[in-house]
Amino acid sequence: MFDTLSDRLGGVFDKLRGRGALNEQDVRDAMREVRIALLEADVALPVARRFIDDVTEKAVGQSVLRSVTPGQQVVKIVNDALVEMLGGGDGGGEAVGLDLNAAPPVVIMMVGLQGSGKTTSTAKLAKLIKEKHGKKAMMASLDVNRPAAQEQLKVLGEQVGVATLPIIPGQQPVDIATRALNAAKLQAVDVLLLDTAGRLHVDQALMEEMKAVSAISAPKEILLVVDSLTGQDAVNVAQSFAGQVSLTGVILTRMDGDARGGAALSMRAVTGKPIKFAGTGEKMDALEPFHPARVANRILGMGDIVSMVEKAAATIEVEDAEKLAQRMAKGQFDMNDLRMQLKQMQNMGGLGMLAGMMPGMKKAKAAMAASGMDDRVLLRMDAIIGSMTPKERAKPELLNAKRKIRIANGSGTQVQDVNKLIKMHQEMERAMKQIKKMGGLKGLAAMFGK
Ligand code: GDP
Repeated sequence: MFDTLSDRLGGVFDKLRGRGALNEQDVRDAMREVRIALLEADVALPVARRFIDDVTEKAVGQSVLRSVTPGQQVVKIVNDALVEMLGGGDGGGEAVGLDLNAAPPVVIMMVGLQGSGKTTSTAKLAKLIKEKHGKKAMMASLDVNRPAAQEQLKVLGEQVGVATLPIIPGQQPVDIATRALNAAKLQAVDVLLLDTAGRLHVDQALMEEMKAVSAISAPKEILLVVDSLTGQDAVNVAQSFAGQVSLTGVILTRMDGDARGGAALSMRAVTGKPIKFAGTGEKMDALEPFHPARVANRILGMGDIVSMVEKAAATIEVEDAEKLAQRMAKGQFDMNDLRMQLKQMQNMGGLGMLAGMMPGMKKAKAAMAASGMDDRVLLRMDAIIGSMTPKERAKPELLNAKRKIRIANGSGTQVQDVNKLIKMHQEMERAMKQIKKMGGLKGLAAMFGK
């Protein structure tokens, strides 16, 4: 996601930053390129236009152009405007969470088109409410249109350990909703998730049904699920829904795919509602709070250290996370650190994700993909590091030709594999140094109490 946009913007800003002085024309030229990049990423035209006007106005100010680092300042202005465009105003750049503040059962109504990932997201959200909020959840499918939709929710409910309303064949949506509310009350459920019916297109019957369900269940949250891969269509769909029901937020699915990003970037402006969560895969834990500031950082190629470390912290021992954060803050990164990272990559569902989140790792990631690297390679790399002596792991510069042959033999690999690993380590070490220079980890060390 955002890869092409990120590359394009990177090119524009490299040019800007590379120059000592800037004049108004330089900024306007750069903004023209940014505008094209946004439109190519499928950002809705009015949204792109407003963005460019806003940024240009701020960036051509004398205080920016006369400053010592005009290029950097322009990038900062673009960054801030991106955060805003992604909904930064809603939660101060942080994710906007669920509002569950009401008498139980709090109702969350899920709406969206068929195939958008609505049912999957309902189950993911129920799991999150159970595990992260520690609340008792229940789900009910009101989807009587799609064959087997109700069974699908039941199966997912069993997977995530959340009860679903027993199915009564032939019952209509409003009646199901009523029954669900009663059941939720009887069973002291905190949060009731209603998975409403999808349709292939937005139509009036669907809207009427949604309104009827909303009227009897008084939902605290009405979350629209849209597929980020559908780009401009997602935005149009969102606009239609927003015009008919009072949405409280959006869940953008398939953010793990190669969507160009337009849906994410236009959604806030078009619906006036925050993107609350991003779906990042088919598994039940692939639902993440949507952090505008972090996403903007990722688009501008500055990486997403905070989410990376939070993710890491969730899957590794706290002690390891602390150690890692401290070493990263110092710009240190030896083979032991690489090994720990590789282990985390495996834990976190493979290679792609972490690499995409790290500053300076885009290139390394492309190189990995080009060399056909997959998770088996992670195991091989682990074996290579395992065949190094502790001294070599702490000081990779010791690795001369003779040692490499020994390590290749020891790990059942080739010297060229050892070389590849060393190259990767160097790339990551460089990235760590870069992070240290940016001073981006100050808060991080604090987060771990050091
Ligand atoms: P619905 O018709 O809107 O209820 O759609 P479903 O929930 O049945 O989802 C349709 C398909 O999309 C399923 O195969 C899901 O596993 C898949 N899916 C849903 N969300 C995501 C996501 O965030 N990423 C990926 N890769 N697949 C998703």
